[in-house]
Amino acid sequence: MTSIPLSAISAWRPQAPLQRLHFDWLAGVELAVLRLDLIDPLISGNKWFKLAPHLHRAAEQGARGIISLGGAHSNHLHALAAAGQRFSFATVGLLRGHPQETPTVADLQRFGMQLHWLGYGGYRERHRAEFWAPWQVHYPDFLPVPEGGGGLPGALGCAGLPAMVAAQLPALGWGDYHGWWLAAGTGTTLAGLVIGEGGQRTVHGALAVPPDHGVAEQVRGLLSEAAVRDAGYRLVDACRGGFARQDAELLAFMTQSEAQSGLPLEPLYTAKALLALREAIERGEICAGTRLIFMHTGGLQGRRAASVAASEF
Ligand SMILES: *Cc1c(COP(=O)(O)O)cnc(C)c1O
Repeated sequence: MTSIPLSAISAWRPQAPLQRLHFDWLAGVELAVLRLDLIDPLISGNKWFKLAPHLHRAAEQGARGIISLGGAHSNHLHALAAAGQRFSFATVGLLRGHPQETPTVADLQRFGMQLHWLGYGGYRERHRAEFWAPWQVHYPDFLPVPEGGGGLPGALGCAGLPAMVAAQLPALGWGDYHGWWLAAGTGTTLAGLVIGEGGQRTVHGALAVPPDHGVAEQVRGLLSEAAVRDAGYRLVDACRGGFARQDAELLAFMTQSEAQSGLPLEPLYTAKALLALREAIERGEICAGTRLIFMHTGGLQGRRAASVAASEF
């Protein structure tokens, strides 16, 4: 196979629609949603924006493909494999745990991604310096991309999203807005928004992972790498006891919110972020008249397996 086609990748500039959202608990807060879940039927959510700069770098280096990691329900590997199929480049996925069949894994195979299962211990080694060496011997000319498409390139890929919102504000009848509300896993997308906003508006990150997962440190690190002032954002706990933990209140809220708004959600990120927003409004932390952009970060493909045990994610 030839190298990654830079021109085709650069030519694809997906647009996410901006839509008003109404719920009975908004108490005068005005909400619009940036639908990253609608940018494409297959390459959905924030993961494309995090991947794009990595793909550019790979193409410039003449790489033949991309090698990356994730779990058996990974939104990141799903977007990467779909992009590989769409733009005709090779993809390799290193998976956590032991071989299992999930709707996501079936898609990865259908999209032509080469899969390797690392077990749990093997996957835990991924942060070690020597982790990539044998894979680079096995797959020369493949660019390794960190889990989730993270790092500064991933963040910078999200820095253009405020401009996508700005272009659609007139159609919404909004002169301006005050801030963002979005789910955060590694905080890469959030850091990108903070960079893109340049301190103009507050970016609220609803943490889908426990507070001890180092997201605050990671965001600080990305902002200092980008030489951006460490300000203009706020992290709130939204994980409800752990990543992928699902409780009855969350699931009832998700069903009710979908019925009220028609907006499809999933329980790991988007529903938790929206519920955390309701709680912040109820605590009086966001006052009436505030205009917020809720970012729909996607993840709906993972919903097909929403009933599997939290430990599998
Ligand atoms: C990966 C993901 C996130 C988290 O993005 P980060 O950049 O890691 O913070 C949020 N929502 C969905 C649906 C995701 O797949």
